[in-house]
Parts: sequence; C-alpha cells; structure tokens
Amino acid sequence: MALDVDVDSLVIGGGIVGLSVAYGLARAGDRVVVLDGADDAFRASRGNFGLVWVQNKGLTRPDYARWTMRAGQDWAAFATELHDLTGVDVELRQPGGLTMSFDEESLTTAGKKLDALGQELEIRYPYERMNAVELRNLTPDIGPDVVGAIYCPLDGHVSPLRTLRALTQAFKNLNGELVPGVSVTQIEHRGRECVVHSDKRCFSAGRVVLTAGLGNKALGAMVGLNVPVRPQRGQILVTERLRPFLKHPCHYVRQTGEGVVQIGDSKEEVGFDDATTLAELSRIAARAIRCFPVLKDVNIVRTWGGLRVMTPDGFPIYEESRQCPGAYVVTCHSGITLAPVHAGPLVEWMQKGATPREIQSFTSERFSV
Ligand SMILES: Cc1cc2nc3c(=O)[nH]c(=O)nc-3n(C[C@H](O)[C@H](O)[C@H](O)COP(=O)(O)OP(=O)(O)OC[C@H]3O[C@@H](n4cnc5c(N)ncnc54)[C@H](O)[C@@H]3O)c2cc1C
Repeated sequence: MALDVDVDSLVIGGGIVGLSVAYGLARAGDRVVVLDGADDAFRASRGNFGLVWVQNKGLTRPDYARWTMRAGQDWAAFATELHDLTGVDVELRQPGGLTMSFDEESLTTAGKKLDALGQELEIRYPYERMNAVELRNLTPDIGPDVVGAIYCPLDGHVSPLRTLRALTQAFKNLNGELVPGVSVTQIEHRGRECVVHSDKRCFSAGRVVLTAGLGNKALGAMVGLNVPVRPQRGQILVTERLRPFLKHPCHYVRQTGEGVVQIGDSKEEVGFDDATTLAELSRIAARAIRCFPVLKDVNIVRTWGGLRVMTPDGFPIYEESRQCPGAYVVTCHSGITLAPVHAGPLVEWMQKGATPREIQSFTSERFSV
C-alpha cells in the first residue's frame, strides 16, 4: 500500500485520551493525524460519568495522587482555553465534590486515609469533613441516612460529550486531521519512522502514540509494548430533567447543566459485554435514592453500559517502546480527570524527553515484577 500521509505524530484512537494528547501535540507545533476506529468500537469516552475526581485517588500510590491533583488544579484553565479556542462550554462545575457516608465509622476512616496521604505528600490534603448539618447547608436534599461527607474542592464534573467536541474542534483549529472509521491493523518500525497500516490507508510518522483504549493490548504487541488492559463494565442511569437540587457532584450522582441527573455506576468483570441489567441498575438506583430521596419518583429516560479501560492495578501506563523508539502508549482509567495533564506535561515528555516525576513509575515493567 502506498504511503498516504507522513506527519510528525500519529495518534491511534480518538477517544478522550487520544484527543487530549493530539490536541497537546498540535498545540506544541506538531503536524498530527488521529486515526479512530469504526462506529461500533467500544468507546469509554462516550459512556462515562464525567467526573473530574481527585479525592481518594492514589491512596496507595502517592505519585498518582500528585498527578491527579495536578490535573484537578489545571482543569479550570483547560476548560477556559478550550472555550476561548472553540466557543464550546464543557460545563465544568468545580470546585467541589462529595463522597457521602451512611455511617460515622466510614466517614472517620475516609478522613484518616486522606490525612495519611497528606502526610505522605507533605501537604495538608485539601478536604473537609462535613457532618450532616453542614452537608445539609450545602446540599439540602440529602436523605436521613446520610451522616456526613468528605468534600474536596479539586473535584468537579464536566460534560464528557461537550469535552470531546471541544477537543476535536480545538485540534482541528490547529490544523490537526482526524480520520474516522479507520482500523489500524499493523505497525512497522523502519529506521526512525513508524509505518502504520490500516484497513484503508497507510501512514508514517516519527512518533506514534497508542491511545486506542481496549485496542491498545493488540496494538502494543506490534511495537513491543506490554499493555495488559481489560474491560470493566459500568452501568449508568439518566433521569428526566429535574429542578436544580445538586450543585456538587457526588461519587455516584451528578446533575448536569440541563437538569438531568446521572446515576452511576457499577464495577463489573463481565468481559466485552456492554449490556445493561435490571438487577445492577436497580442496585445503583436504590443507593442513589438513599442519598437523595427526591430521586424516588422520577422517570428514567436512558440507561447504558460502558467498558472501562482497566490495567491490573488500576493505574495508568505511560511508556515509550524500547524496541521501537518513537512509539508510545498512553492508557488510563480516568481519562476525563486527567485530560489537562495528558495535553500538557505528558506531551512535553514525548517531545522533550523529560519524564514528569509523578509518572516515572507508570511503565508496564511493574507488571513483570
Ligand atoms: C461507566 C464509566 C464511567 C466512567 N466515569 C469516569 C469519570 O467519571 N471520570 C473519569 O475521569 N473517567 C471515567 N471513566 C473512564 C474514562 O471514560 C476512560 O478513562 C476514558 O474514556 C478512556 O478513554 P480512551 O480514549 O483511552 O478510550 P476509548 O474512549 O475507549 O477510545 C478508544 C478509541 O480507540 C479506537 N480504536 C481502538 N482500536 C483501534 C484500532 N485498531 N485502530 C484505530 N482506532 C482504534 C476506538 O475506535 C475508540 O474510539 C468512566 C468509564 C466508564 C465506562
């Protein structure tokens, strides 16, 4: 097949992770093409919950806590930048997310864990422990079973679809090219170039970034990268529009700018099956109603299942191939939360070689120990 396109960077996968990286590369001056799969591909980026979630991230891995906090801190500027470039409002609502507790013991434990993390990070971890009275002042509609919550100002939420739209438009404004409906079938390393074969065309670039979500496992093997990702299903319910009652998202209930309430989500090991089940949806709904009794009598207008892109330990993989220098993999479980750092410091690492301290341990080598 003849070479169609020769650019600085090819990004394989046009979900939130690929578009964040592609936008960052284009912003830094690269000529970039994004190749994205067919319409029936599994796409976590179109089925997620939209949280920018920092609290509790990295409790067992302080580097991940630092990386996530950096993303949370950068989100406001990132949303403004996307809006200025494209006119698209991603509906960022920050500061503040809540993790509700139904018993004092779990509330105390959650606070202690964040204190311990703060000590490890040598900061005062940004959170507030709220009792039911304080919480009711912030969120009057909580149910009688809720005894309190952990509030973290770095948490928030966005519209995932608006974020994808903004990133796509911003990328195109920087002369980036997005090629949809292309399935990459082979990657070859020739000298300093990677040659990428697809079912339709052939592309070459000095840098290839694998951001194909669950497709990264097969693609990684083509360039000597071990990417042991697996699907984990999450189911979500969406209500009719309601009066605004929830200013701050909580871990499994958020109200969007349009007034609909999203209720999430499950964690199911069912392989490549993104169906919904009544049993799981009922369990999720019951938990949300316990938090917010106002949800008891509302109509559900939509439900869906999405497949998370999970590594064995739940942390990201950021790695350049030793076998094929110039080929990178970027995959993670929190692509919405991490979008600003994927467009920023991660791209700097690829372009300038300086690995940010927070991500030095996120290679796949940790799985072979
Ligand atoms: C139910 C649920 C709730 C979630 N909630 C949150 C949340 O609140 N906050 C948060 O931060 N994260 C959340 N996530 C996680 C987040 O959605 C993912 O981290 C993110 O979407 C992963 O994006 P991605 O671009 O890596 O993968 P995907 O969105 O899956 O995109 C991969 C792309 O690669 C393409 N592709 C695959 N193979 C090939 C190939 N061979 N050739 C060309 N293209 C290919 C596909 O077409 C696809 O478009 C949630 C996920 C789920 C499922």
